[in-house]
Amino acid sequence: MASLTGGLSCHPLHRSFSGSMIAVATDSRLAEIAAKVDAEERLTFEDGLYLDEQADLLTLGRLANQVRQRKNGRYAFYNTNIHLNPTNVCVYRCTFCAFRSDLKAEKGYVFSDDMIRERVLEAKEQGATEIHVVGGLHHLKNFDWYINVIRVIHETWPEIHIKAWTGVEIQWFGHLTKKPYDWVLQQMMDVGLGSMPGGGAEIFDEEVRSQICEHKADSQRWLDIHRAAHDLGLRTNATMLYGHVEEARHRVDHLCRLRELQDDTNGFQTFIPLAFHPENTGLSHLPKPSGQMDLRMIALSRLMLDNFDHIKAYWIMLGEKTAQVALGFGADDLDGTVVHELIYHDAGAKTPEGLTVPQLHRLIQEAGCEPIERDTLYRRVIRDGAKWTIGEPVC
Ligand code: SF4
Repeated sequence: MASLTGGLSCHPLHRSFSGSMIAVATDSRLAEIAAKVDAEERLTFEDGLYLDEQADLLTLGRLANQVRQRKNGRYAFYNTNIHLNPTNVCVYRCTFCAFRSDLKAEKGYVFSDDMIRERVLEAKEQGATEIHVVGGLHHLKNFDWYINVIRVIHETWPEIHIKAWTGVEIQWFGHLTKKPYDWVLQQMMDVGLGSMPGGGAEIFDEEVRSQICEHKADSQRWLDIHRAAHDLGLRTNATMLYGHVEEARHRVDHLCRLRELQDDTNGFQTFIPLAFHPENTGLSHLPKPSGQMDLRMIALSRLMLDNFDHIKAYWIMLGEKTAQVALGFGADDLDGTVVHELIYHDAGAKTPEGLTVPQLHRLIQEAGCEPIERDTLYRRVIRDGAKWTIGEPVC
């Protein structure tokens, strides 16, 4: 195993960061924050706000890369996964969502058991270690239908890790069954659920939430559900949807609330900043976040979330080029081969639906990093032809 602390200047971009030292030398507030990063001290809400609003991109990137190198060295992770969105019919109407369909709209679909099995067998054929399952909250489907989705996947191929249902979906299942979240989660675990993705967090600030997703699980419920999952031993991810109507203070507040829960449970694995895609949404008048903002959010997250092991540059949303550069701005994970992604492609993402393993390796190696295939729980995947086994946790 390569040294985690070695190669502090592995990334070619790191060399160009030397110019950002000038910014630190001439800005005493930035110098104070840089000193805290050097000393591995926690940054405050005010530090985060200053970084978001005032710091130049290269300084932000250099500081974030320093933390990323400390935590993950030269490693850059990816996984081999496949997506399943079992229905796009949804009772809610989040203004940023291009994926949802009305109950009777032509666009609406629902997967049958056979379609689910077919997707799982495709995953097996492709050597995927994970299936990522999220979808809409269908007006007419009861809790047993959602349980059945997980059961069919697990029975078709028990080896695949099932990462399924956002906090918003778990809250909906609680609403359907009138049972507590830990009961809902336990039912899902009993039929094969292995972990939870981080979607549905959007922006925690209540005022922003009321503008973009007023009806769905509020921020406290989202956090309570992840706490309940962690208490049951499920690892989960966390996200933040940025670049729409929110401001810097909302983003920093979001990161601080996640950090607080992680202090209590240590159950989050990865944080994924998600760039808003306006096409086909109720917010289509807004511009897409710029490349500058994408990199700033990766770097800010790495600096504020000192208790998260991983920051993911989700290439489907960022595009391969920005995701590659993000590996030098605090990110250590590119997500995966991602076959059958619908949610961001419906919102106008122009990225391919999937990348091959050689393509991911090239992106990572060109960024000066070492590609590591991981499973969902960040254990090394060891391949021998078409077979794979799971090794030790990498870091
Ligand atoms: S984001 Fe999720 S909950 Fe909101 S409308 Fe889209 S599918 Fe429904």
